[in-house]
Amino acid sequence: MNSEETLLAMDFDDTIIDGDSSEAAIELAPEGELPKELQSIRPQVEHATFMGAVFGYLRQQGITAHQILAKVRMLKFAPGMQEVFFDIYNSEQEAIIISDANSVFIDSILQHKNLNNVIPKYNVYTNPACVNPHSHQIRIQPYECQRQCDLCPPNLCKGQILMRHISKRRANNLKTFHIVYVGDGVNDYCPCMRLGSNDIIFCRKKFALEQLLQCELAKPEEEKRLYAEVRFYTDAFAIRDRMRIDNVFFPARTMTPPTVPSSTTTPCNPSEDSKCEEEEEEEEETTSSSSSDAKGKKAPSKDLGKAGKGGKDGKKSSIDAGKPRKGSTGKGKDKRGSTGKGKGKK
Ligand SMILES: [Mg+2]
Ligand SMILES: [Zn+2]
Repeated sequence: MNSEETLLAMDFDDTIIDGDSSEAAIELAPEGELPKELQSIRPQVEHATFMGAVFGYLRQQGITAHQILAKVRMLKFAPGMQEVFFDIYNSEQEAIIISDANSVFIDSILQHKNLNNVIPKYNVYTNPACVNPHSHQIRIQPYECQRQCDLCPPNLCKGQILMRHISKRRANNLKTFHIVYVGDGVNDYCPCMRLGSNDIIFCRKKFALEQLLQCELAKPEEEKRLYAEVRFYTDAFAIRDRMRIDNVFFPARTMTPPTVPSSTTTPCNPSEDSKCEEEEEEEEETTSSSSSDAKGKKAPSKDLGKAGKGGKDGKKSSIDAGKPRKGSTGKGKDKRGSTGKGKGKK
């Protein structure tokens, strides 16, 4: 291939799936609502800590991890996303997921769609979680504890994760990366602002990121800190089409990804190094599956069936692909490459 490789970086909730997995879990609370105490801590703590409290509460209410995962697995893929996954698989395109959900949800959902073989677990950056086989409660830990980025919560800076991934890959030989970033939310703003003019942002229409990026785009030239090309999209067919035009997705074959055996995903194996402490008491929060692993053997919770559930936005329509890149397969180094730069404060 060329001296430049493409990296496809994607958010998960409301981007890969049509809906928010954490919100889906919260809906299981009695009457669909969390108690006041929990609601009140939400704005004060980062998402992983909040969800840890939610899982504890749900378990007290008699709701098991098994039930939560069954609910979360009902979330559908966003329109066109399954096709994007097929193309990632068929073109062997490198892709990563960066998400403030958690490893158990992501793994469980991808597995349920038979797509857990497309993006390797070590390319899924998220809050590590596991299912405690004894208490049947989901445990979750913050992905990190960062203070460098004031745009992001302490538990997860998507921009830094993206940049770290790129440096790691560069250290392994690849010279230049052309980044295609796909997201919808406020926490996707940070990585977007770190991209260069050779990169592309696919921003899902009608979600929070759209407005943030529109504000950036409206700034006068001298104040602009958003360098990447921005494509607002309604359905992910636009992403697939653009990637095909750019020759990133070259459909060399058209197979559906093989199913990977289930049960290697959610349960904690207490004897592994990164694991859930399986004290009966509910408080020790050591977790398994650092963003990348999530092994485990015994599967206390087995897959439940599927079902349908709509997501928010969903019509498929416009292919918003746009002009072919200057140098589709590569090239186009320029002013800023695809790295660093331009963190903004809000
Ligand atoms: Mg999202
Ligand atoms: Zn950040």
